[in-house]
Amino acid sequence: MSPPPPSQSATNPGSGGLPGVRIGHGWDRHRLATPDEGGRALVVGGVRLESPVGPIAHSDGDALYHAVTDALLGAIGADDIGVLFPNDDPRHDAEDSEVFLGEAVRRVREAGYGVVNLDATVRLERPRLSPAKGRIVENLRRVLGCEAVNVKGKTGEGVGPVGEGRAIEADAVVLVSRV
Ligand code: MG
Repeated sequence: MSPPPPSQSATNPGSGGLPGVRIGHGWDRHRLATPDEGGRALVVGGVRLESPVGPIAHSDGDALYHAVTDALLGAIGADDIGVLFPNDDPRHDAEDSEVFLGEAVRRVREAGYGVVNLDATVRLERPRLSPAKGRIVENLRRVLGCEAVNVKGKTGEGVGPVGEGRAIEADAVVLVSRV
């Protein structure tokens, strides 16, 4: 038996065998709090949003970047963001999450894949995402090296942790193919 390629997870036995096209999914949630309560500035997709509350996080708490990072890593069967960048590692205190996303893209390329498209949803009660969406999409296009990037903003309709303004969540689905 030859050893698994370096991008393959040592902890995920379902990650073997890489066909020409792979799908990946990621999800993330961060609690939102005021600065007095330990909330950081609210950053979504690399864009700072004006908000009285922000994520409780070890890194900068960019839920969208974290979800996309996990989707990319999942697509190639690699370890997830929490394994690669432990949230008790002092090197990542207040880290710009583009570092995590960039590393995931690097691993996708190292595994011989390129990103085909990304579809993502951000769940945030306020502020509205729409004014920042163009900049968020441009950031993702730049880091992923892929034009086909779609980002949707949804509220929680006033219910649940998102709707009550206590959390931000993001989902991401990516397709990668052999290059
Ligand atoms: Mg996170």
